Amino acid sequence: MNEDMKIFENLESEVRSYVRSFPTVFTKTKGYKMWDKSGKEYIDFFSGAGALNYGHNHDHMKQKLIDYIASDGITHSLDMASTAKADFLEKFQDVILKPRDLDYKIMFPGPTGTNTVESALKLARKVTGRTDVISFTNGFHGMTIGSLSVTGNSMKRKGAGIPLQNVVTMPYDNYVDDQDSLDYLERFLEDGGSGVAIPAAMILETVQGEGGINAASFEWLKKIERVCKRWGILLIVDDVQAGIGRTGSFFSFEPAGIKPDIVCLSKSLSGYGLPFAVTLIRPDIDIFTPGEHNGTFRGNNHAFITATAALDFWKNDELENNVKEKSQKILDFLEKMVEKYPEIKGEVRGRGFMVGVASEVDGLANKIAAKAFENGLIMETSGPSDEVFKLFPPLNIDDEGLDKGLAILEASIKAAMKEPITN
Ligand code: PMP
Repeated sequence: MNEDMKIFENLESEVRSYVRSFPTVFTKTKGYKMWDKSGKEYIDFFSGAGALNYGHNHDHMKQKLIDYIASDGITHSLDMASTAKADFLEKFQDVILKPRDLDYKIMFPGPTGTNTVESALKLARKVTGRTDVISFTNGFHGMTIGSLSVTGNSMKRKGAGIPLQNVVTMPYDNYVDDQDSLDYLERFLEDGGSGVAIPAAMILETVQGEGGINAASFEWLKKIERVCKRWGILLIVDDVQAGIGRTGSFFSFEPAGIKPDIVCLSKSLSGYGLPFAVTLIRPDIDIFTPGEHNGTFRGNNHAFITATAALDFWKNDELENNVKEKSQKILDFLEKMVEKYPEIKGEVRGRGFMVGVASEVDGLANKIAAKAFENGLIMETSGPSDEVFKLFPPLNIDDEGLDKGLAILEASIKAAMKEPITN
């Protein structure tokens, strides 16, 4: 154990986790690079778990933030009006919603992913007057009780310490090979003897991040939307991790051609790593009474400033094209790895810059991620048994950074396979 890590071991709670996977003290970062106290350089294929899709400390956002702070602009404002908020609302409408023909009211639910999910669940229950929600196997939606209730992971659920109720879990796309999971779901809704009541909402990720990079097919998503419409069920897409360009388009559901009733966004919305979330609501179901769902930190004006600046990256298709082109390169590389090293027993998963390899070998994905860290590449694992090593580079990474990261990854795969797995 590095001496510098002792302070965290001695003073920080046992609940700490990423610091265990990446045991060094970071001091500086720019774009896709990070440096630790000893000056060692790392390539970042983690992007703050999807909160840093534009890389670290991007000059465009940084300058706007510095100027705003220097001018004594409002920092905290609950949900009062500020110029920073007005600018964000207007630009989000003009750059994101209007060109995609999407009509949503924008709610500020509190600064984190779980805040937007909680608000979505509450609103769906209020709108429909129903109590239950359908969630999906391996879904992940956050750590507060409502969000946990729709999260699949048993270790996280157990952490609630109380029964998590009013939720029915249904199989996600491809959960069982060669079975249409939606036929199964519809049967439950149709059959008065199924024991499943018509729910207020269904909540899903189009690509499951924490659950193991499972990408739903566009057909499945379209059918989900049809089922929801047929039964008057609200469709909530949790785009906290898959949104803001991670899968290639601003919203992950765009290529499926669906229009959810409620959309949850957070993580990379501020663009700069500042806490920020919104809940997008179909206007006719925007029925919370004033203050019915509130919170102290709904007016993070520094986040409004950087989020507004980040929207400039969506005024043309440069960023989307970068993801499209390089995503193919990453997928080709991963397919090659799986073929060249059959010992991985790997399966390539995901789309856009939300990809990974699931390994059937117990503990191997963690070993590869640990080796990668030693070799100067930051990446994490996901899935119910941490069986997927996950590639999350910043969306604007250049060829040099990507090639370097992939080369480190291959060296780490080779090194991991040479050693016995101890965990
Ligand atoms: N939804 C999804 C899809 C997520 O991936 C996460 C975080 N990993 C959350 C919700 C919760 O976000 P937060 O950690 O900011 O509460």
